[in-house]
Amino acid sequence: MSVVEDFLTHQEEQEIIEAIRIAEKNTSGEIRVHIENHNNGNSETRALEVFHYLKMDNTKLQNAILIYVAVKDKCFAIYGDKGINDVVSNDFWDATKNIIVHQFKLGNFKQGLIDGILSAGKQLEAHFPWHHHDEDELPNEISKG
Ligand code: CA
Ligand code: CA
Repeated sequence: MSVVEDFLTHQEEQEIIEAIRIAEKNTSGEIRVHIENHNNGNSETRALEVFHYLKMDNTKLQNAILIYVAVKDKCFAIYGDKGINDVVSNDFWDATKNIIVHQFKLGNFKQGLIDGILSAGKQLEAHFPWHHHDEDELPNEISKG
């Protein structure tokens, strides 16, 4: 992998933002992507930090998901808020993680993120269906560290 600045082209970023928009059409849950160079040692711990830093713990149903990528350290993590973890099993994210890993190993970072976002959206849909009056509580733009 390269550095954050070269990780995705502008066009690829737009496609990822579009995938988030599509995923959120079917669920009240919120999905965000954060990319940075280094995870300070542990992607899971760092993803949790970023989750709070981005105020993703402020959703009404506590149903936000962060897909975190440390570009130079070549790893990623998925963090879901309390509302999700209260209702799903521990292996809930395995399918989504595997989908992302599959594409990342091929060097297809954009596709890995898009597939991961759509998979996470599908997972969310079952527990947090979209409803009228649903708001876009968190921006769909990619966050960069
Ligand atoms: Ca929403
Ligand atoms: Ca959103």
